Amino acid sequence: MFTTGKCNLTCSYCGGSFESEVVPWTVKYDLEALKRTIERDNDATVIFYGGEPLSNPAFIMKAMDSIKATRWGIQTNGTLVRLLPERYWRRMNVALLSIDGRREITDKHRGRKVYDTVERNFRYIKSLGVPTIARMTVTEDTDIFEDVTHLLGLGFDKVHWQLNVVWTEKWRVREWAQASYLPGMRKLMDLFVDSLREGKVLGIVPILGVVSAHFHGGYLGSPCGAGYKSFSITTDGRVLSCPIAVREKWAELGTVQQFRILEDPLPEPCKQCEFRTYCGGRCFYASKEKYWGEEGFMEVDEITKEYLRIVLSRINEIEDLIRRGVVSLEQLRYDPTEDSSEVIP
Ligand code: SF4
Ligand code: SF4
Repeated sequence: MFTTGKCNLTCSYCGGSFESEVVPWTVKYDLEALKRTIERDNDATVIFYGGEPLSNPAFIMKAMDSIKATRWGIQTNGTLVRLLPERYWRRMNVALLSIDGRREITDKHRGRKVYDTVERNFRYIKSLGVPTIARMTVTEDTDIFEDVTHLLGLGFDKVHWQLNVVWTEKWRVREWAQASYLPGMRKLMDLFVDSLREGKVLGIVPILGVVSAHFHGGYLGSPCGAGYKSFSITTDGRVLSCPIAVREKWAELGTVQQFRILEDPLPEPCKQCEFRTYCGGRCFYASKEKYWGEEGFMEVDEITKEYLRIVLSRINEIEDLIRRGVVSLEQLRYDPTEDSSEVIP
């Protein structure tokens, strides 16, 4: 649920608020209609989104007071946390905070002092017992091993990231992936397996989500569920398959009164791919829009496939640990739609 199109930051890879004509800054539709739709699902997860969702705390309180849902969550930039009263925070089942890793990496792209503010608010949310996920945007400045382990070290329950390859100008992603990202992924995978040997599942979502797909059934489409398992409600009451596709007609599925569900969400070119049940076509938006053209899209695709090979190359070892009872299958179950994460970076 969008609470607003307004944001108080202007991060380099996003640019800040949506124009109010595209995503109004206040909620314009009848909440009762949405309540009826959500309550038809007896296992609904509701995640607040924006803009910066905490720019409109009154709507969050109204929704949480009137709608019945199994899980509540929020994707926030983590700077306006105190605007929502503590009793609502205590009811959140997950809080996703945007933070890119170490201080200098975060502040370079999100703004001065953002890291310190988010860290302080993260500690507050954590002290209330709310499970937390760090949501990183990964750029060529990122050292994936350093930044992910930094965030796990701060105490985030999980870490998830997206590569900055959807909205931005094209950059030398192939060279960066070969020199930095993929070697870092190998080290993270080593760390993940080493922890499993001690019976501990590290909350590295791009690894856990793929391991879970292997043991518990894969994804029909984008792991985020775009259009078939998760839906975005804009402030003007449109229902979209993907929350960043606020201007794109292909993403419109209807309104809060009535909307359709995508029956076959896997993109055509992915139908023969050996990785399709792990990847689901990765980001649905990226595969529709292809801002970097076909060639740029394939460049990222090769990186995706190599990262999946890195994860899947360790499945035999993980199976052995399950057989020996060091770790259970249940510990390796992860449903990204419960957290509004996307699994594939
Ligand atoms: S790896 Fe590429 S081709 Fe394969 S399912 Fe994912 S996006 Fe599609
Ligand atoms: S992964 Fe892509 S399709 Fe899914 S919510 Fe994110 S931007 Fe939208």
